[in-house]
Amino acid sequence: MPHRDDSDSRKLLRRLRDSLSAPGGGQDRLDAITHEIADSMGTEVCSIYLFRDADTLELCASEGLRPESVHNTRLRLGEGLVGRVARSGRPLNTGNAPAQPGFRYMPETGEEVFSAFLGVPIQRVGEKLGVLVVQSRDSRAFTEDDIYGLEVVAMVVAEMAELGAFQGSQSDRMPLAHRFPAMFRGGTGQEGAAEGRVWLHEPRVIVTNPVGDDPVREKARLNEAIAELRIYVDRLVADADMGADGDHAEVMEAYRLFTRSRSWLKRMEADIELGLSAEAAVEKEQSQTRARLEQAADPYLRDRLHDLDDLSNRLLRILTGQGRDTGAEMPDKPILVARNIGPAELLDYGRKLKGVVLEEGSVGSHAAIVARALAIPLVIHAARITSEALNGDPILVDGDMGIVHLRPEDTVAAAFRDKIAMQAAAQQRYAGLRDQPAEDRAGKRVELQMNAGLMADLPSLAGSGAEGVGLFRTELQFLTRTHVPRRAELAALYARVMDAAQGKPVVFRTLDIGSDKVLPYMKPQDEPNPAMGWRAIRVGLDKRGVLRMQLQALIRAAKGRPLHIMFPFIAEPSEYEAAHRLLMAELGREQALGHVLPSDIRVGAMLETPSMAFAPQSFFDGCDFISIGGNDLKQFFFAADRENERVRRRYDTLSFSFLSLLEQVIDRCNASRASLSFCGEDAGRPIEALTFAALGLRRLSMRPASIGPVKHLIRRANLDDLREVIEAARQAGAPSARRAVSEYVVRLGS
Ligand code: PEP
Ligand code: MG
Repeated sequence: MPHRDDSDSRKLLRRLRDSLSAPGGGQDRLDAITHEIADSMGTEVCSIYLFRDADTLELCASEGLRPESVHNTRLRLGEGLVGRVARSGRPLNTGNAPAQPGFRYMPETGEEVFSAFLGVPIQRVGEKLGVLVVQSRDSRAFTEDDIYGLEVVAMVVAEMAELGAFQGSQSDRMPLAHRFPAMFRGGTGQEGAAEGRVWLHEPRVIVTNPVGDDPVREKARLNEAIAELRIYVDRLVADADMGADGDHAEVMEAYRLFTRSRSWLKRMEADIELGLSAEAAVEKEQSQTRARLEQAADPYLRDRLHDLDDLSNRLLRILTGQGRDTGAEMPDKPILVARNIGPAELLDYGRKLKGVVLEEGSVGSHAAIVARALAIPLVIHAARITSEALNGDPILVDGDMGIVHLRPEDTVAAAFRDKIAMQAAAQQRYAGLRDQPAEDRAGKRVELQMNAGLMADLPSLAGSGAEGVGLFRTELQFLTRTHVPRRAELAALYARVMDAAQGKPVVFRTLDIGSDKVLPYMKPQDEPNPAMGWRAIRVGLDKRGVLRMQLQALIRAAKGRPLHIMFPFIAEPSEYEAAHRLLMAELGREQALGHVLPSDIRVGAMLETPSMAFAPQSFFDGCDFISIGGNDLKQFFFAADRENERVRRRYDTLSFSFLSLLEQVIDRCNASRASLSFCGEDAGRPIEALTFAALGLRRLSMRPASIGPVKHLIRRANLDDLREVIEAARQAGAPSARRAVSEYVVRLGS
């Protein structure tokens, strides 16, 4: 291969840039580019393959291959050498292409005479656009410098594609990024359907000039931006040091090391030497490191990917001056699209949003809990949507199915609107039941309460017709802050919650942190299995200061009103007894300090581990109430992680084995003075709720949107009849009551 130096590369990049402003359409530009690259690299062939859709690459321009193959030769992702480059995101260099594993002979191209092959991916941060290939007759492999040089060129081609350079006269034949309808299959975070326009939480940084004219100036710009980035990270480190949180500081320290990495800086400077602008150099390194780390199975390395993305994005924003606030106006009916989002940020957007779509997230995540409180559909695990969506794109979110349609076809949009209209009609019907009791046809009452955790939940208390709050998850207040809230703050907040409840009972559950609920200001515990680790009451009893502060705040907030307190995750009676003693001691202390005590105080335990179904009777006698936390109870009963999408739906809540456990708890409570409720997610699923009620669970606490559907069903049913149906199924040897209950519900009609 002929020797090329930095100035050749710079010349080539400049010529590529000039082709951007030259007259002509997209195809003309692609043709010109392949010609320029082959000329500059001294190769017989240069070809550009672009993605037509997520799985298909199309030869879109070529210097040296037969013209009739352009737009006719197609390869699937992973197919042939080109497909391999696209899949791996890594270069492939060989002096003997036909001898390579996976080589696919494409006779229409006439490429059989070219032995040497070098392909590099055309990619832009997290987005695969295509493959750039040079080929040559001589059978020597390309040099490291050639590879590096071609990667730099591919970066410029990627930026040109992003700027729309290849759209134009033949656009009907060209793959157009961000134009076609795209569907994303993710998971359900929160049910519901919404139509709106994309609003990106972190809008893409647009690099308008990928080519740098003056390497000295570009390097100076890069160094200044890195200096600014270091100041920013140092400040983060200092803030982390201020808290007593060693591990958080450790993560920050990793960030700091990253910003001081000589090799990172050196690689970017070398890119600039070859003709890239400072911002294109940052993107190139980000893309390449991403491609490498994405293949890593090691979760530690994948976390580093996030660090790299965060820092590179910040560096790009410094260089381009594009902040999160790009001046774009939030569209009507905004649907938030983000890689991930914290609960506090989501709350900031508040009720403006019509829906949320995340690339990451989980059902039990705090963002999901906030989305639930805001009653907006949420789809999680929508892979790569932030690379594909642009601000303002039309979007449909189907939270029930976990599906998102971006830039949908008219027929899809029309079907979707029908679905939304049907849901609205059902909501109307439920609203008519708001002031009616949840009573079956024989007059048996079931008390329906709601779950809450944020002030934003409370308007639903009146709106849904809930008879109280059966579970107030107090940890959400802790999760949405950057520091431990003060006692006075908490007392004021709990008082507002009680005010808003207007005399309806509110069951405050003391802090359930640990497991997936990690406080940003608390040292994360490196536990192999956090769901079974140091969480909830275990933390409360070991770190009594926080639990005591919370109990004091609750007592002060009640100020002579009735107070309900529930301790989470009790796994043996002694834990409940210790927590109860702590509460009694606080009551005594508060009284001594002159505070008015609650007029009535009811204390209960959450039953979330199978062990408690078999606790001594004295435990049940010692509780005013018990609430079954079905989410945790089910995960421990079936040994199936509630956060793991693979196993979470595998086991049936209505299996007779789980129902027998519930019956055991119902019997134990009936034989004691403790009243019983169920407050896991299953209480909000109509078939499950109806089954629980038939088995004798007469108080259910659920998300507010479920109260209407559950009440509607209970009012049409006869709980005694249903109990007989369930018994008959059990006697007949059915593994689950689901089928029998579902058939019973069908017989009820609507
Ligand atoms: C439960 O486990 O069912 C429950 C209601 O508690 P959480 O979902 O907050 O763990
Ligand atoms: Mg729980």
